[in-house]
Amino acid sequence: SDVLRLEGVGKTYNPGTPAAVEVLRGLDLSVARGEVVALVAPSGAGKSTLLHIAGLLDTPDAGRVVLNGRDMTGQGDRARTEARRRELGFVYQFHHLLPEFSALENVVLPQLANGVPEAAARARAAGLLGRVGLAAREDHRPAALSGGEAQRVAFCRALANAPALLLADEPTGNLDPATSDQVFAVLMEVVRETGLSALIATHNMELAGRMDRVVRLGAAASG
Ligand code: ADP
Ligand code: ADP
Repeated sequence: SDVLRLEGVGKTYNPGTPAAVEVLRGLDLSVARGEVVALVAPSGAGKSTLLHIAGLLDTPDAGRVVLNGRDMTGQGDRARTEARRRELGFVYQFHHLLPEFSALENVVLPQLANGVPEAAARARAAGLLGRVGLAAREDHRPAALSGGEAQRVAFCRALANAPALLLADEPTGNLDPATSDQVFAVLMEVVRETGLSALIATHNMELAGRMDRVVRLGAAASG
């Protein structure tokens, strides 16, 4: 079964005005349970737009977004926010960790927001951080972490509520090649262990080649 299906998705910014930009048209894309899909696109091809639509942060003006078998297209803000919190995890090029909180707290907080008791949230956060080799960094604030460490914490935060689907936009794009490789390897290990599904945008063809399938988004092609 598919965790995510985009069916005939279209998106135009500023429709009906001289500034109209058609970014996506008739886009079909699916991510099966346990599948890791690479999204490769030249700059401006609509990668961020697609990830925002898949992440229920933006709505398409044509087509459907089906998450875990549920058509989210007609759902209101409340249902979409709830689905984001419970079913989706996000990682970006920059870690966006809360600077005044420790690594552990950054992974605890999204769980508290979902009603997980604090002791259980702390235990899960510690387990995730240990899994990515950061047991000794739990109490460090983001500013005291290296770029690769901060991205690993951001990844743990994305997994904090055990999402069905991970959406990542250039998750290692801000790291030097060696660190990028290391962070990606850890990320893939955890994804495989947990059977997580993921849609990961990257410009790095070597990393894309290590995923299950590559979807190219371009002027003419769609996946
Ligand atoms: P990518 O992430 O592949 O670089 P984006 O999805 O950010 O592409 O943008 C695709 C196109 O849509 C670009 O031409 C961009 O300028 C345009 N675009 C993106 N967001 C908006 C917006 N809010 N309003 C108008 N045009 C936009
Ligand atoms: P709330 O403010 O009630 O937490 P939000 O809609 O802001 O609700 O957040 C719900 C989920 O969506 C959170 O996990 C949050 O991290 C994520 N989220 C919200 N806005 C964005 C955004 N612009 N980009 C990525 N993730 C977002």
